[in-house]
Amino acid sequence: MEEKGTISVNTENIFPIIKKFLYSDHDIFLRELVSNAVDATQKIQKLASIGEYKEEIGDVKIKVSVDEKAKTITISDKGIGMTAEEIKKYINQVAFSGATEFVEKFKGIDDTNQIIGKFGLGFYSGFMVAEKIEIITKSYQEGAQAARWECDGTTSFSISDAEKEERGTDIILYVNEESKEYLEKLKIQNILEKYGKFLPIEVEYDEKVINKTAPIWTKSPNELKDEDYLEFYKTLYPMSEDPLFWIHLNVDYPFNLTGILYFPKVRQDITQHKDKIQLYSRQVFITDEVKEIVPEFLTLMHGVIDSPDIPLNVSRSYLQADSNVKKINSYITKKVADKLGDLFKNDREAYQQKWESIGLFVKYGMISDEKFYDRAKGFGLLKNLNNEFFTFDEYLAKIEANQTDKDNKKVIIYTTDQGKQDSYIQAAKKKGFDILKFDEIIDTHFIGVLEQKLENVTLKRVDSEVVNKLVEKDEKLESVLSKDDEGKIKDIFKKAIGDEKLEPEVLGMSVDEAPVTITVPEFMRRMQEMSEMQGMNMFGAMPNSQTVTINGNHPLIDKILKSDGEEAQKTLAKQAYDLGLLSQGLLTGANLTSFIGRSFDMISNK
Ligand code: ADP
Repeated sequence: MEEKGTISVNTENIFPIIKKFLYSDHDIFLRELVSNAVDATQKIQKLASIGEYKEEIGDVKIKVSVDEKAKTITISDKGIGMTAEEIKKYINQVAFSGATEFVEKFKGIDDTNQIIGKFGLGFYSGFMVAEKIEIITKSYQEGAQAARWECDGTTSFSISDAEKEERGTDIILYVNEESKEYLEKLKIQNILEKYGKFLPIEVEYDEKVINKTAPIWTKSPNELKDEDYLEFYKTLYPMSEDPLFWIHLNVDYPFNLTGILYFPKVRQDITQHKDKIQLYSRQVFITDEVKEIVPEFLTLMHGVIDSPDIPLNVSRSYLQADSNVKKINSYITKKVADKLGDLFKNDREAYQQKWESIGLFVKYGMISDEKFYDRAKGFGLLKNLNNEFFTFDEYLAKIEANQTDKDNKKVIIYTTDQGKQDSYIQAAKKKGFDILKFDEIIDTHFIGVLEQKLENVTLKRVDSEVVNKLVEKDEKLESVLSKDDEGKIKDIFKKAIGDEKLEPEVLGMSVDEAPVTITVPEFMRRMQEMSEMQGMNMFGAMPNSQTVTINGNHPLIDKILKSDGEEAQKTLAKQAYDLGLLSQGLLTGANLTSFIGRSFDMISNK
């Protein structure tokens, strides 16, 4: 018996359209056909397990083979198979009921996943690489007649009886001229390994089974040891260092999701850690671009997420709005926060030792995700120059007594570069101030978040004010100088500096503090940093951002005032000013050169 017919479709010939629209990634035809084989195999296993299928199930390995001479690729399974009626129902009609709509809607779209699932084109994706497809199949049902279906990529098909001993389906692709590359052994091998490494049914290719059918994320955490997790990590990322810790995800309500997320040792250059998470759907690899599925900062993690509930067939913007994706997002965020919280609670010492990596991640999370900030504020840490760690609350309690200013604000003092800011650090230490280390790139943003979130707190870099003003009190800093002398010394410095607009300030500081201190106010410096980050230099237009503070109580000031002649006064003032710049790291170029020359002259007593 042979029957000929036309695939029910309104549009004359759909296949050229499929080929045209699906050009972006032809490889996935194999993923689709092997997935169908897996589904059919799992169905027979299911039927057997509930007693609906009583025969011996036998070896259900799926076999993929390439015949270079015949130019065919064959995918054979021992699944439930199809009767001729089922072929008509599932293959002929399903795909193209919406063909006209399909053509209208997807003009100009080239996202393969999007089109394939939406219109149930899984099977038909074979036509991306084949000029003809043949199905030879025998249903599991008792006494079923095997059937052959054939279609050459036009809308007509033929269906006839076939000879087939065993239950299951063979799909034979006659590879077209443009797709010859798919007849190469290695090509098929690579595609199978990419998409099928963890398929739940064994897949044999070139006499080898290519997959592990029970990857650890499908198991229960209490069956697994640390070694299992580490070993799995190595199989995913053969060249990587061991991860710091991991989280086994396992939910079935309100969405279904399993997976393992690893926390890598994060280095300063975070980009190299990003986008390594692999997304699976029922153990079929889908993509390693998970940006839309996990919150941005969590893309630093590695591992596998498997969920049939993530819609794979829609556009990216739709994905972000999808309610399942949102739930998955907050679930993962919560899990990660819980894990970090547990680590902190259960072994704070170990947590602190890993802070270099964890910290980058926690800060990144706090900066980019409000909810994460709220969850993490109990285990986000601050580290001071003595390498002691504090939670935010602990730290504020620590500095309360000595670092609360006249407006009742707690002042957090930090350094971004211990080497360069040493003189300021030493001065602050003398006052008994505690100093935090914020020396990572991410800290610039993190400081902003802290200031915004912590109430009544202000953050100042250690060199943003003279030490007496870091934590401002009501007390006046009167200098020993008379009003007259104050005016004189200001003038001397103005002339020495050679900038009319610069207005030095005279304060009565302690004698063992520097005679001249140059500071760049916190907000000015942050503005500069921000504009630098955006590639602009607004600062060039704001030359007077320095503050020059003269310590009226320092003996040098007295010496300058008493020096003989304007020239001598100017030289001393200039020297003092340059030393101030030097300790701020601001003395460079010609100014530095002339300072060095002048200094040599001075010690040679010229
Ligand atoms: P989907 O898999 O999304 O349903 P497909 O076009 O890939 O869409 O397949 C359509 C239907 O054809 C399947 O749902 C299944 O009923 C049937 N089918 C496809 N491949 C096989 C197979 N290897 N064995 C048995 N049935 C199959």
